[in-house]
Amino acid sequence: MVESNLLEMAIKFHGHKCPAMPLGLRAGLAAMRKLGVVKPACNKELYCLCETGLAHATMCFVDGVQVATGCTFGKSNIEKLNYEKNAITLIDVKKKKAVRVALNPEFQKKGLGSKFVQMRSQGIEPQDIDAEIVDPMIENIMNQPDDVLFKISDVFDYDFKGKKGTFEWQQCESCGEVVFAHGIRIKNEKKLCIPCAGYER
Ligand SMILES: [Zn+2]
Ligand SMILES: [Zn+2]
Repeated sequence: MVESNLLEMAIKFHGHKCPAMPLGLRAGLAAMRKLGVVKPACNKELYCLCETGLAHATMCFVDGVQVATGCTFGKSNIEKLNYEKNAITLIDVKKKKAVRVALNPEFQKKGLGSKFVQMRSQGIEPQDIDAEIVDPMIENIMNQPDDVLFKISDVFDYDFKGKKGTFEWQQCESCGEVVFAHGIRIKNEKKLCIPCAGYER
């Protein structure tokens, strides 16, 4: 089973106790086990497609995924697909293999009917929900076998072509700030950063 200090670290990183984050932690670990990966990504040897979205219950899932897999927004080896679902596809970039791990709908439906989710839907902040309510949920999640929590695909081929980070940069001719290559826009023959060029994104 999962080391308790990994859970502790994840709760500290996440900021509050809730059931969705530990589910992400377990999903990441299950995907790694299935792929035969023994440690979280140091850099970009793993890549994660996360199906969570921009505004729904259980988005906290993605923080657990990041802690387990080492696929982080800082390293840009995780991306959100915004399908508003709780599933990940974890890719072993060198071996060109992947696995998809999705929350088991039966387990997820029980969670969505819980007192915790009911209180959250009434606008109560997760940190204001009693430990007596959330602790047993987390403990249950940490102790269930993978196949109760998830539907796990077979390992399949996935030829992932990552983007190489650029070291090329310029100075914006308006604000003087440093901009990496993809962010430069030409306007009135001037090299400008995106906000100075007046583009939203
Ligand atoms: Zn949370
Ligand atoms: Zn600028």
